[in-house]
Amino acid sequence: MTGWRAIRGSEPELELLTGVKCVACGSVFDACVPQSVCRKCGSMLSATYDVEALKEGFTTSSLVGREASLWRYREVLPVVLDTNIVSLGEGFSPIIRLGGGPLLVKDDGVLPTGTFKARGMSVAVSKAKELGISCMALPSAGNAGAALACYAAVAGVRARVYMPTDAPESNAKECRAYGAELVFVEGNISDAAQKMADDAGGWFDVSTLKEPYRLEGKKTMGYEIAEQLRFMLPDVIVYPTGGGTGLLGMWKAFGEMEQLGWVGGARPRMVSVQSESCKPLVEAFSAGRETLGEPVSCGSTVASGLRVPKPFAAREILRVLKESDGLAVAVADESILQAMRSLARQGVFACPEGAATYAAYEKLLEEGTVGRDERALLYNTGTGLKYLGLYQ
Ligand SMILES: *Cc1c(COP(=O)(O)O)cnc(C)c1O
Ligand SMILES: [Zn+2]
Repeated sequence: MTGWRAIRGSEPELELLTGVKCVACGSVFDACVPQSVCRKCGSMLSATYDVEALKEGFTTSSLVGREASLWRYREVLPVVLDTNIVSLGEGFSPIIRLGGGPLLVKDDGVLPTGTFKARGMSVAVSKAKELGISCMALPSAGNAGAALACYAAVAGVRARVYMPTDAPESNAKECRAYGAELVFVEGNISDAAQKMADDAGGWFDVSTLKEPYRLEGKKTMGYEIAEQLRFMLPDVIVYPTGGGTGLLGMWKAFGEMEQLGWVGGARPRMVSVQSESCKPLVEAFSAGRETLGEPVSCGSTVASGLRVPKPFAAREILRVLKESDGLAVAVADESILQAMRSLARQGVFACPEGAATYAAYEKLLEEGTVGRDERALLYNTGTGLKYLGLYQ
């Protein structure tokens, strides 16, 4: 990491980030300059740390008394200088016992911008600022765009959001309020992505898993679940999966924590929840495939965050589901809406994606795929307040 010293001419405060590594071909790239995907094979990159050097000081007891945000895991986050951290107190969200019973819900509805997208953007925008990037862009119909707009505003970095014209008006307003530049694109999210590619020039692409650091923010979900449950991981984690960043992030966290000696080798069974109208992972998983099959047609769903016809990291997601003895399951919109009402009656005003995990959990219990004796955690990724139109 002499590179960092050469660039900044100063001693770094934390120099534990050793590089970014391709998950498919293993090529390693320099983390001192902006990176997107693997230049050799086009797959996603994942940050690596000098865990051995960390082991001594970064212990579970060293966390006591740290700030209640995801930055409490500072040593395993990619930012070198503290002054580059862009934070609004995101993370360390509560884990609720639903109805006082054994079922756990981690509630990211309390995060800045109302969803867990704040985790990824806090870290990605901080790192971008550190690397001298001044303009960031992505295609988004909703929460990712809002979170980028928000953190870019705080960082003093320009944000541009390519938004399908049929995206909810409230999402456009939110981005505009933060001062982001909006480009409306006729069509769906893929058309928005295409328009962004055509416009290339000067904008750093922060699309899902097309740069390595949103994943680092999302992995703090796994660190928090472990710490908040006294390092006894749940037996099952039920996660609403679109692009899969959260799922891959948690899995990465479990691996790092094992290296750090914080947890043993046992892993939760990871369950991906999708919508009946857009379920590429469910189809690939049930066919026993290692990657996506024929392109699936994706209809609309109330859980718009799950409408991802071709997750970029499908191969990785499917590998995690298999390795963890987990599975992928789809739920219909009616049961998502029903689950939103049930959760509200138990004190959780969930987004449709979060509520989908409750619907899926009930389905799996009924089928016997998940046992009542298994300690399960549902992930609510956002607040229902952003989806008032779905409530009566
Ligand atoms: C983006 C989003 C998801 C899907 O997240 P991934 O980690 O990319 O699978 C789920 N819920 C909400 C509310 C989202 O905004
Ligand atoms: Zn590669």
